[in-house]
Amino acid sequence: MNASGLSRLFLSTAGSSEGDSGAPKLFDQARARLEAAAEHLGIDTDVVEKLKYPKETLAASLLIRMDDGARRSFKAFRCRYDDTRGPTKGGIRFHPAVNMDEIMALSFWMTFKCAIANLPYGGAKGGVCVDAQQLSKAELERLSRAYVKAFANFIGPERDIPAPDMYTNAMVMGWMADEYSATVGHPSPAVITGKPLELGGSLGRNDATGRGGYLILRHLENALHVSPEKTRVIIQGIGNVAYHCARLLHQDGYSIIGLSDSNGALFDTDGMDPVAVRQYKTKHGYLDEAPTNGHGESISNAELLERECDVLIPAALENQIHQQNADQIRARIILEMANGPLTPAADEILLKKNTIIIPDILANAGGVIVSYFEWVQNKAGLYWDIDEIHHRLKAMLVPQAETIWRLMQDESVDLRSAAYILALNRISTSISAHGNKNYFAS
Ligand code: NAD
Repeated sequence: MNASGLSRLFLSTAGSSEGDSGAPKLFDQARARLEAAAEHLGIDTDVVEKLKYPKETLAASLLIRMDDGARRSFKAFRCRYDDTRGPTKGGIRFHPAVNMDEIMALSFWMTFKCAIANLPYGGAKGGVCVDAQQLSKAELERLSRAYVKAFANFIGPERDIPAPDMYTNAMVMGWMADEYSATVGHPSPAVITGKPLELGGSLGRNDATGRGGYLILRHLENALHVSPEKTRVIIQGIGNVAYHCARLLHQDGYSIIGLSDSNGALFDTDGMDPVAVRQYKTKHGYLDEAPTNGHGESISNAELLERECDVLIPAALENQIHQQNADQIRARIILEMANGPLTPAADEILLKKNTIIIPDILANAGGVIVSYFEWVQNKAGLYWDIDEIHHRLKAMLVPQAETIWRLMQDESVDLRSAAYILALNRISTSISAHGNKNYFAS
């Protein structure tokens, strides 16, 4: 594919960062692009009006007792952006940088991600402004339970269904589901997804996000002109998403030539086995001397992104590829497994270089799809085996990748814009089904 001359409708989902100085606030960026795209597509003005602001936002302060006896309060937020297509869905993050602007923008993007996956959900997001790594386990449990107490009337299995996000995990989801169940007076596992298996979690949720990216890459192999035995892949991260994506690609014959953690990166042009690397990391806590196939070298995380490869998979943090390093990126294809790994400025630079960018809202949608399966199973009280989960994930995700690829060609836009066009059309059709200006004026 030649991406030159393709028009851009949407910015990447990355936030503003150094390198993109002067960028408007995250939510304003999101909204401005929605309006531009709606105008380009001739979308009903009623739709734009409905999507202009979140449906509901709630801010609270969570007052908890710390282990030393003192009380501390933490700012907490939840935003339900739009529920036209169904109850809202989105993670809860515990991070010191959490603020309402970010939560609103993330809930806006969740609305689009759920529409791309064609789930009967709208989008939401929540968070607490806290450095979770500084809390003891007991403090973390008190904070998680306090979040649910504060937002008990806002969330609910038919209303708004949270899930894990940065620095929240299955155990946090288990505490939250337990607190919600105590509040409503009966077990209510469907209020939250990403729970431990023993508390109503779903098989296949653990590797769903990495598996989703893997399925998309494998499906688009012909269109992208890649084949496993000839393709060198660099993956930033070795956490949940990065590891499973690397493991599955390696299993099918892709050469994984780079992996990293927060301390640095491991690179070997002869490739490495991600399972052995992860085992080493788990045992030693670092990657430096993890086994590779030949001439492994330790390099910095920044260097790893700039090494030559065919597919670069940022699967760790936001804003990793930005104005300062975008020009040095030598990958032909970028599969965005993290949320917002490219800043808007990087997106522009890379598209000019004809880099094919498979956007996060498609690439990492496998996670929310299996979260949806968890919710369905909780509501039905009937649980599927792993083959059923894998079969359903593939059946829901791969056709969306196919549709977005075709839309890119038909509309002469880049893949990110094509993904947003698909989502916007679906959301708009639902909003217009209640009647629009033309219907009522006629
Ligand atoms: P994780 O906590 O399991 O892993 C994070 C990884 O990032 C780790 O390998 C860590 O070593 C690495 N890392 C941390 N700081 C780094 C740095 N400065 N440089 C390089 N690497 C660094 O998290 P995860 O669940 O794998 O999530 C990764 C990304 O995927 C996030 O952007 C998340 O929002 C996104 N995501 C996750 C899911 C999911 O289901 N887990 C779903 C959708 C999107």
